[in-house]
Amino acid sequence: MKLIFEKSVSGRRSFEIPVSDVGIKSEIAAKYLRQESAPLPEVTELEVVRHYTQLSRRNYCIDTNFYPLGSCTMKYNPKFTEKVAAFAGMADLHPLLPQLRRGETLAQGALEVLYEMEKILCEITGMDHYTMQPLAGAHGELTGVMMMAAYHKAKGNNKKYILVPDSAHGTNPATAAIAGYEIITIPSNDKGVMDLVQLKANLSPEVAGLMITNPNTVGIFDSDIDQIAQMVHSVDGLMYYDGANLNAILGRCRPGDMGFDVMHLNVHKTFSTPHGGGGPGAGPVGVNKKLAKYLPISRVVKRDDGVFALDYDYPDSIGYVASLYGNFALLLRAYAYILILGKEGLIEASNHAVLNANYLMAKLKKNFDLPFDRICMHEVVLSASRQAARGVHAIDIAKYLIDQNVHPPTVYFPLTVKEAIMIEPTENESKQTLDEFIALMLEADKLSQSDPESFHSFPKTMPVSRPDEVKAARELNTNYFQRLSSSSAKKVKETVSF
Ligand SMILES: *Cc1c(COP(=O)(O)O)cnc(C)c1O
Repeated sequence: MKLIFEKSVSGRRSFEIPVSDVGIKSEIAAKYLRQESAPLPEVTELEVVRHYTQLSRRNYCIDTNFYPLGSCTMKYNPKFTEKVAAFAGMADLHPLLPQLRRGETLAQGALEVLYEMEKILCEITGMDHYTMQPLAGAHGELTGVMMMAAYHKAKGNNKKYILVPDSAHGTNPATAAIAGYEIITIPSNDKGVMDLVQLKANLSPEVAGLMITNPNTVGIFDSDIDQIAQMVHSVDGLMYYDGANLNAILGRCRPGDMGFDVMHLNVHKTFSTPHGGGGPGAGPVGVNKKLAKYLPISRVVKRDDGVFALDYDYPDSIGYVASLYGNFALLLRAYAYILILGKEGLIEASNHAVLNANYLMAKLKKNFDLPFDRICMHEVVLSASRQAARGVHAIDIAKYLIDQNVHPPTVYFPLTVKEAIMIEPTENESKQTLDEFIALMLEADKLSQSDPESFHSFPKTMPVSRPDEVKAARELNTNYFQRLSSSSAKKVKETVSF
């Protein structure tokens, strides 16, 4: 496909504002006015519409087909929440609406949503306070670990290490390292959960805390969590809950009750808001009383006269982690989603998510290795080791599924499972969709026996089949401009200088 700049023809327009004949004077000072036109592609409206419609058709999304990407909770985003987010009173709200007095803005409705959302999330997760500021799960982790560091600093604790299980999502150790800690990895036992003997061996007064998700990244609920929390607290370590897997336990149990001190949520996972390629997301962070005073500013407060205001008066706060209100439109969608489902609806959603994952496990465990043969939570981790012995690896099965118009599950994660295939169906999928997926997986297994060679040519239906992954990693070049033929490159150059 061509870039829209390559489609540009000088002088072509989709709409032109008539030249003013009444001499309107710009309110913008002359020195700020653009001297030359912006270097934009010159195309008609129809060309723009076709360009972006064609691009969108190359996009794979939940609205087009099944998307069982493990750990990501790619659940359907109901149109209802989109409608709420598009309400003019919300969508057209300017974040810099005038302040009447310091902190008291005209955006009362928006502040009320944030205020209410904090209360709701406290109820759902058993925490005492929330900040809505962080812009994604990983950003929430950093916010949380910075608060942990502030806590230890204030107490004069000499802390050096953060513990993470070997099954952890890569963002956990990365966050701890960015926050200045060294990482100690705690191995899992043969049941797929944290090995308490190893935990004990690594526990010391220098441990700042533990980052863990429960159910963990192999989809198993760690029922030793009480004991783990007690052990970590015994050295004044803090318990960090990675909330990416909350979909499995919504309304059934709460991280706050399991002994966690701080946690993030991924509203773009659990509470059904769009996942973008790395954003937009929202990663509210909850804390218990131990950490409340370190929360980022600003905080939304409700005054005695019922007015909502932004409060900046928290001297121990870690400061700003994001501008303005965080990703408000996402939080608004999540708020609408939680309210429309209600308590019973949220419990039902997690029940179905868990049921669906167990259904897939039951139907696939004869043909694929199952590293942990026990009831799973909202996702199931299989292994393609048996197929790999025939020359068909997890990645080959993923490529096969692409040609069958199914988004592949997560492969090679968690790292603790060889040839991992991690499937998360979510609660939204019907039995028919799950059965179609099961049939495809069984077909892939059959083909791995009859014609393993054929897998090397998959996918056949995509614009790019098998990129050279080593080359892509070592000599990454995403500059489309450099790859254009010289005449197209010239044309783009004429339109815009990069
Ligand atoms: C998705 C995920 C994260 C990171 O969240 P983002 O919102 O993508 O930044 C962290 N931990 C786990 C277990 C996850 O699945």
